[in-house]
Amino acid sequence: MASPALLMRVVASAYSVAEKAATIVRNVMSAGDLGIVEKAGPNDLQTKADRLVQMSICASLARKFPKVTIIGEEELPANDVTEDLIEDGHCEEILKKPCPAQYTGIKEEELVIWVDPLDGTKEYTEGLLDHVTVLIGIAYGGKAIAGVINQPYYNYEAGANAVLGRTIWGVLGMGAFGFQLTEAPAGKHIVITTRSHSSALVNECITALNPDHVIRVGGAGNKIIQLIEGKASAYVFASPGCKKWDTCAPEAILHAVGGKITDIRGNSFQYNKEVKHMNSAGVLATLRNYDYYASRIPNTVKESLVP
Ligand code: AMP
Ligand code: MG
Ligand code: MG
Repeated sequence: MASPALLMRVVASAYSVAEKAATIVRNVMSAGDLGIVEKAGPNDLQTKADRLVQMSICASLARKFPKVTIIGEEELPANDVTEDLIEDGHCEEILKKPCPAQYTGIKEEELVIWVDPLDGTKEYTEGLLDHVTVLIGIAYGGKAIAGVINQPYYNYEAGANAVLGRTIWGVLGMGAFGFQLTEAPAGKHIVITTRSHSSALVNECITALNPDHVIRVGGAGNKIIQLIEGKASAYVFASPGCKKWDTCAPEAILHAVGGKITDIRGNSFQYNKEVKHMNSAGVLATLRNYDYYASRIPNTVKESLVP
């Protein structure tokens, strides 16, 4: 049998690398010393978990796929990574699946991997542990085509015997796995948005949508999970602040199940390696009924956000 296509090998490895990352996230928290550093300010934090996980993910994937471009959120000194941070395993089940035909010929140098080692850091430091995800997004030709989202504390309120953590993954043209795809309640408009990065414009935009209910939680990864599990009908964030590593893996998974994510003005995101990191014109994402929400974003809000 021919060896599996590069894309499937990368996704299979990213799956195991994300599980290792989740162990690091949990270990740092249980050890109790988060080593918090402020980046741009008090709402832009980095912890020891962000640092160790980024080193683990980037070094592990770079060792296996040396010609792939890997872009991580954290700026770290070029330290040697210790061997205990390296994960060299892969998920056999993913390797067994056929690669979508349009991706079988991809070469290493054509892939860009966007890594958010810990999405929802602010919430992690506040003990809102189920908001936290590890995001590994894979882009080709500027498009998010595959992604892995690990939720290290999934089930953490279900008691001591519950299995902690889960890994969701998806590939365009194949679908997404590791969760139960569920539609939000019909006829109800449930908007999900930021918890810790709100602004007057963020709230003005939500008010204009006249939702039945608003959910405020941390993490871009977490909010996309709420969309694909039917807890919310639209993710609306009328603000700059989200970056390419926040949206790449979530986008691939959402698109793999027929959803849609764009900026607030309706432009799709690009993920080639030269692209600007900031998603300056915000985020609008839905599993279904994208047009309903897009058509109700006020022009004043759109004009305030420049891509
Ligand atoms: P949130 O929904 O607030 O958790 O934001 C989703 C992602 O975007 C997280 O990775 C945040 O750190 C990032 N983000 C959003 N707004 C900002 C901001 N104003 N400053 C720094 N990071 C932000
Ligand atoms: Mg993030
Ligand atoms: Mg992060």
